[in-house]
Amino acid sequence: TEYKTDVVVIGGGGAGLAAAVSAHQNGAKVIVLEKMPRLGGNTILSGGAFNAASSPRQVAQGIEDSIDKHFTQTYEGGDKLGNPELIRTLVENAYPAIEWLESLGMKFNDEVFTVLGGLWPRAHKPSTPLGTGFINTYQDYINANNDIEVLLDTEALELIVVDGRVAGVKGKGLKGDVIVHANNGVVLATGGFGANTDMIEQYNQSWPSLANVKTTNHPGATGDGLAMAETVGANLIGLENLQLLPLGDPNTGSLSGNIEQGVENRIFVNKSGNRFVDEGARRDVMTKALLEQEDAYLWVVLDKKNYPTPETKNNFNETIEELIAQGRAFKGDTLEELAEKINVNPDNLVKAVEEFNKAVATGGPDEFGRTLFDTKIDTPPFYAGPRVPTVHHTMGGIEINTNAQVLNKNGEVIPGLYAAGEITGGIHGSNRLGGNALADITVYGRIAGESAAAKK
Ligand code: ADP
Repeated sequence: TEYKTDVVVIGGGGAGLAAAVSAHQNGAKVIVLEKMPRLGGNTILSGGAFNAASSPRQVAQGIEDSIDKHFTQTYEGGDKLGNPELIRTLVENAYPAIEWLESLGMKFNDEVFTVLGGLWPRAHKPSTPLGTGFINTYQDYINANNDIEVLLDTEALELIVVDGRVAGVKGKGLKGDVIVHANNGVVLATGGFGANTDMIEQYNQSWPSLANVKTTNHPGATGDGLAMAETVGANLIGLENLQLLPLGDPNTGSLSGNIEQGVENRIFVNKSGNRFVDEGARRDVMTKALLEQEDAYLWVVLDKKNYPTPETKNNFNETIEELIAQGRAFKGDTLEELAEKINVNPDNLVKAVEEFNKAVATGGPDEFGRTLFDTKIDTPPFYAGPRVPTVHHTMGGIEINTNAQVLNKNGEVIPGLYAAGEITGGIHGSNRLGGNALADITVYGRIAGESAAAKK
């Protein structure tokens, strides 16, 4: 089947759909190609945390923050390997992106929190579970507008170039070949390659072998767009920068089942019941420390204040009661009882909590350098849940400029080609802050859509 449109977007995750909606709002006819049977990609599986500094919600909670602080933490948190201009555009447009989502009907909770490896309380949480709020909001917009079409089960395979300008894409759907001609150009938004074990091994430099490490990623995160972009001359950067989290489910690698409710009120202990790291640190720092522990295995430990009732849910819409019933979380009326259930040394666990509670009282930093605290772990019942390292995000990818235009190896724009989301590189450096991915994909998805609609 052959189609004609203004803008074709490849990939129906958060970045692609933001680009599609934004291109349409800016006057373009849009077709989205999604290779899976449904929209959402990794975005819909994410915890939903969206960093934005200087938001009115922070002000209402008395949280001090600024766009400069968000910039500095993002830049330094990636070891200064990110492009400062791209980071500046990200942090300046993060809160406006939340307002844009709200203008499309998306709802966020009032409370702002610190997400794992986010380093600061600036994460905004959607009011519906996981990343569903983003995808459903875009889907509603698409349903209400005729000039955006989504082709599911349709895999993009190759870009079409006419007279030096990217002008469409060839792919395959359930009923055969699909060709889309795009007057304005193509937005690449196929996500990262966290589910492509060969590529992970190929580019891995800073971790031990990851052959047996599971991933949080959906099976479609295979890096398809990178090869397509490279064929037309795109510059790929930072592919060796792989993000692992210390909080994968031991059986599946997924984030589900994680009992933490924000960073401040929980500790991690190893199989001996000892703490081993600043649990408010960067994701790479925490995961590297975890890899040095026995069986690379940790327990998240917290108290009742995180789960006031058995029906209280975690960030993944699971109640603590059901997690306990499934054997994925454990409960004790005392720390000693909890220690026995999870088979760690009770004296060590009691001491770890005592030391943590002392640091809460003083505000730290504690012996691990931790400074993010809120309340003590002192109210029974106490809960613990097991976690292991998991591959989460690929920071490297296609080099873009602040208009989300794709650059070639000489730093020149490739006409008609735009990219946004996890497929891009150069923003997060060696380590992405928790909560920055949703901000990134929304900000740059929106920009890519605008640029493509304007045929920049
Ligand atoms: P991002 O957060 O950058 O939006 P996601 O993982 O959420 O990334 O979304 C990327 C989407 O792109 C996924 O839904 C994935 O299935 C889709 N995708 C990946 N490769 C292709 C391809 N070759 N053709 C069409 N869609 C693709």
